[in-house]
Amino acid sequence: MHFAGPSDIMPIMNWLSLYKGRLIVAGPCSVESHHQLLATAQGLSQTGRVTVLRAGLWKPRSRPGKFEGVGARAFPWLKEIKEKTGMQIAVEAAMPEHATLCLEHGVDMIWLGARTTVNPFMVQEIADAIKGSGIPVMIKNPVSPDVRLWVGAIERVHLAGSNKIIAIHRGFHNHEQSIYRNIPLWEIPMQLKRELPGLPVICDPSHIAGNRKWVKEVAQIAFSRELDGLMIETHHKPEEALTDAHQQITPAELTQILDDLFDESETPAQAATLKSLRNRIDEQDYQILELLAKRMRLVKEVGTLKKALGEDVVQPGRQQKLLDDREQKGSMLNLNKPFIRKIMQLVHEESVNIQSTLAHSESRAEHKEQNKPTQKHS
Ligand code: PEP
Ligand code: MN
Repeated sequence: MHFAGPSDIMPIMNWLSLYKGRLIVAGPCSVESHHQLLATAQGLSQTGRVTVLRAGLWKPRSRPGKFEGVGARAFPWLKEIKEKTGMQIAVEAAMPEHATLCLEHGVDMIWLGARTTVNPFMVQEIADAIKGSGIPVMIKNPVSPDVRLWVGAIERVHLAGSNKIIAIHRGFHNHEQSIYRNIPLWEIPMQLKRELPGLPVICDPSHIAGNRKWVKEVAQIAFSRELDGLMIETHHKPEEALTDAHQQITPAELTQILDDLFDESETPAQAATLKSLRNRIDEQDYQILELLAKRMRLVKEVGTLKKALGEDVVQPGRQQKLLDDREQKGSMLNLNKPFIRKIMQLVHEESVNIQSTLAHSESRAEHKEQNKPTQKHS
């Protein structure tokens, strides 16, 4: 069976109110107490910009022994808050039982988390649990960068009878060091949009950034990539949050971020293009930083091997050969030769520094080891 096609997926503006053409979902990483949820939701409702309140009742933690959510006892709080604020309520369903409980308690939407989307068995069980209900479902990308798993989860939910589906881009796990908690790999949501045109795709900058400092810049990139909205973790007292305290922001901070983002997107066409190109440059710079970090890790490995083989840090001719090669390759990419030579000289110098420090620290450790007083056994 194949996905019925985009014509069947309802555009969000047909069933949800948007803020300046974008869907804004916000709320705490996890519901912690009646007071915390009410205070946060009231703050969000006062912003006048948030349509959907995210309220995680069950928190999938990587390791046991930490706060795992308040569970089903919060359903009456959700009902009360919906009545008080008018916001739609979304809850994460990580198991079919969660989905069934959400249906029983009249929750407006569910979402599938990144650790669920990665597992087609679990997605299918949840799809079976909601079959025929038509409940709207937001589907996060799987933790691994595999667009087929993401499309597959969307297909399974769609085949269960839901045509109100929203994809959420929340970044990907990567074993490489990254400036963000989850590496965005923007090409993947773009590919999803190409494969399923018409499917709304929003961005979760909170889980990409992993730090409130970077939430706005990630959201900016999402806007310049023309994603359809944002899901942002918000808490009335972020520093006291029981989960993801580093990345949550207050409702007032959310308002400020959204105002800045929309001001930028309302600027005249050329200025907007300028802004969006600058965002793309930021994105490229972050990739350069990550590549440099990766290169320097290799440099360290080479340094350790040189030491083991008794080789000198600086090897005659290597620097010249490297600079000539990079200069030539750079010019094939239309980069100015002296510019490439300067950059590569700096990179090479830093590599030599790293290896020299390593060689000395190791030889100091060896020296200490050799001169250690012999232990006397009593
Ligand atoms: C969440 O949204 O709270 C969450 C657990 O995120 P993710 O599934 O993206 O890791
Ligand atoms: Mn979270």
